[in-house]
Amino acid sequence: MKPRITVIGSLNMDMVIQIDSFPLPGQTVLGGNLDYIPGGKGANQAVAAARLKGDVALIGKVGTDAFGQVLLDNLLKNGVDVSAVKRENVSSGVALITVTPSGENQIVVSPGANSLVNADFVQEHENTIRSAQVLLLQLETPLAAVKRAVELAKEAGVLVILNPAPAQALPESLLNQVDVLTPNETELSILSGVPVQNMVEVYTASRILLEKGTKCVVTTLGDKGAFLCSPNINVLIPGYSVKAIDTTAAGDSFTAALAVAVAQGKPLPKAVKFANKVGALTVTKKGAQPSLPLLDEVEKYPF
Ligand code: ADP
Repeated sequence: MKPRITVIGSLNMDMVIQIDSFPLPGQTVLGGNLDYIPGGKGANQAVAAARLKGDVALIGKVGTDAFGQVLLDNLLKNGVDVSAVKRENVSSGVALITVTPSGENQIVVSPGANSLVNADFVQEHENTIRSAQVLLLQLETPLAAVKRAVELAKEAGVLVILNPAPAQALPESLLNQVDVLTPNETELSILSGVPVQNMVEVYTASRILLEKGTKCVVTTLGDKGAFLCSPNINVLIPGYSVKAIDTTAAGDSFTAALAVAVAQGKPLPKAVKFANKVGALTVTKKGAQPSLPLLDEVEKYPF
């Protein structure tokens, strides 16, 4: 049986231009070719989980514009169930991204249809949530929708994994319903309200979130791996040593892999180890969705 995962989240068309240096205010610079790359945290995580042989449904919205069709086609091509992705008569979400040769980027997001994902829409798709083993969410769609989805999942005994990105402070009433939270260090600091610059601070900040009611915090630490903190386990699960080419989508693939492994019944330390491997493989390739590995690649990789 494939692990059943429902993702609620954003779909964006990423429009990427390579430039030599960022323009100053009022300045125009010439860049390279424009690339159109399907993205958005919700879609990235849905595709990542489907490539790892999850049975994945995505709940979200795109526009009736041409980008909306491309975003839907891309999900279908990757085996994601899109029956709960609605087309609205507005623009699709778009991210305008410029990248310099050193890999630094500047990003402007227009949420478009993503901003219409509200609590009522989530309610319409409650069966897609209730029938999942794991509900996977991020913070690129309105918080009211995230809250409603989490409530529905908890009522039905569905495990909730929240990837709290982009970073924002969250109410305790939401944090106390989350089974597994997957921040990076910056997000952990904003959520806990304390600085996070070393392992002791990762531990301290994670405990603050456990006190607020989150069952388990898995903080991603780039090439160092991830720190797993639950009432009974506090452990650094080391990352895999790879030649990093592009770290885009590492957090998305990590969280999706964790969802697949947990839905398969793997204990958390093993699930984090698997997620570290998937995250490491993701950084060895360029781009967001093009770099998300297939399960066969993960199983074959000799580490
Ligand atoms: P984010 O991109 O959200 O900030 P991280 O950079 O912490 O997230 O990466 C997520 C996960 O991807 C890490 O916990 C790790 O498993 C893996 N990862 C990221 N960068 C590397 C790297 N350079 N080498 C090996 N694994 C990596």
